[in-house]
Formats: sequence, structure tokens, C-alpha cells
Amino acid sequence: MSDVKFSRIVLKLSGEAIAGEKGFGINPTVIQQMAEELKGVHELGVEIAIVVGGGNIWRGNIGSEMGMERAQADYMGMLATIMNALALQDVLENHGVPTRVQTSVEMRQIAEPYIRRRAIRHLEKGRVVIFAGGTGNPYFTTDTTAALRAAEINADVILMAKNNVDGVYDSDPKFNKEATKYDELTHLDVISKGLKVMDSTASSLSMDNDIPLVVFNLNEAGNIRRVVLGESIGTTVRGKH
Ligand code: UDP
Repeated sequence: MSDVKFSRIVLKLSGEAIAGEKGFGINPTVIQQMAEELKGVHELGVEIAIVVGGGNIWRGNIGSEMGMERAQADYMGMLATIMNALALQDVLENHGVPTRVQTSVEMRQIAEPYIRRRAIRHLEKGRVVIFAGGTGNPYFTTDTTAALRAAEINADVILMAKNNVDGVYDSDPKFNKEATKYDELTHLDVISKGLKVMDSTASSLSMDNDIPLVVFNLNEAGNIRRVVLGESIGTTVRGKH
């Protein structure tokens, strides 16, 4: 553990990260690779909590654009995150990594309900805890869930895994070749510059609770380990001002 910079992490995995290139559904190859990488990080003795998104299956705003009631559509989004969590649990356990899924919406036959103290106990015992169901409230996101759970379990950092983007840029590098990457930012910079790191609720929660974030490219093998060992990759967001 001596070389490890962050000993308790919250990894935010978006639905997009789970979908891989197709952009939809659960990609078995992608989650296998993810599990292998996480196994390596787990072997370092790092306590790992994962917050999973659901956008690869359903997003509440799609439903509301179709005329559904937003809250109803958001509950479907929460269920999508639970499907992803179960897939991730399955693949991690196949790699010999002990896990627990905790849901914010009770689903006792499938997973444990979210209980903060119990989650911390699992982490201390070396189990990877997967937080599913978002915050359990409509109108929120899994980014906000990551900030909330990180504060609740006293995590050292939130790892924001991005798909094929290696950090935060001043404009979208997919469209602007001149875009420049930030190595360091404050949470206030992110909010005031309107940078697309997390949604604004998640950003302000991270700022108010002084939770550092590292935004990095998930598609480069070994990056989770690099961040945990303190290599400066991606963009670090910390501090208020
Ligand atoms: N969701 C919600 N409350 C939460 C978290 C998520 O209602 O606390 C719903 C919301 O509809 C969202 C969907 O679940 O669109 C999937 O989550 P998110 O968009 O955060 O997933 P990601 O973009 O990370 O794949």
C-alpha cells in the first residue's frame, strides 16, 4: 500500500464506458477488460467503490422527450444502472474479485439496499462495492451519485473515467483541433467556465465537500492504476478557488 496515493476511491463508470464502440448495451469484451484492470488495482490493496451509469440502456431525458413523465422515465434510468451493476458484479467475481452491489432503490432479491456503514465495512474487508440505482431520486444523475457517495464514504478521490478523452479541454477536442487540455482546475473553474466534466449539481457537491476528481481516459489500459499510484495523467480538479 505504501506506493498508493489514493487508498479509497470512487470510480464513476458511465453507461457509455460499458457500451464500448457500439454506444448501446453491455459490451462483454469491454467489461472483461475493465474487470482485469480493476483486479490489478484491487490487488494493490485499494478500496474500490464503483458508481455505474445507465445511459447505454436508457436515459430519463429520452423518455421525457418522448412525452413520458420525467420522474417515471428517470426511474427506468435507475433500473438501467442496476442492470449494468449486475453485469459488472458478474464479471468481477469471475475474475476472483469479491463484490457487493448496493442499490439505492430496494431490490432485496437481487442486491443489498444501500447502507452507508455496511458499504464502508465491505470496503474495509476488501470487497468492491458497486453502487447502483443512482441516488434513488429522479432528476439526478449518476455523476451526482458519485459525488454524494464519495462524500458519504470518505473517499480520497473520484475517478471520472471518460471514453476516448484524456482529460478536460477548453473546447471539444473532437471538433476543435486547437483545443487545449487542462492539467489542473478548481471546481469553481469547472462551474464558471461551464466545462463538461460532470453536471452542475455534481460539481457543486464535489466543490462544497472538497472532493478531488481525476478525469482520465478509460480506454488506455492501465490508467486506473496510474491514477491510483499518483501518476499525473488526465486532469485533476480540486480545491474551491
Ligand atoms: N437517474 C436518476 N437519478 C439518479 C441517477 C440516475 O433519475 O440519481 C436516471 C436518469 O434518468 C439518468 C439515468 O438514470 O438519465 C442514467 O444515469 P446517467 O445518465 O447518470 O448515466 P451515465 O450518463 O453515467 O451513463
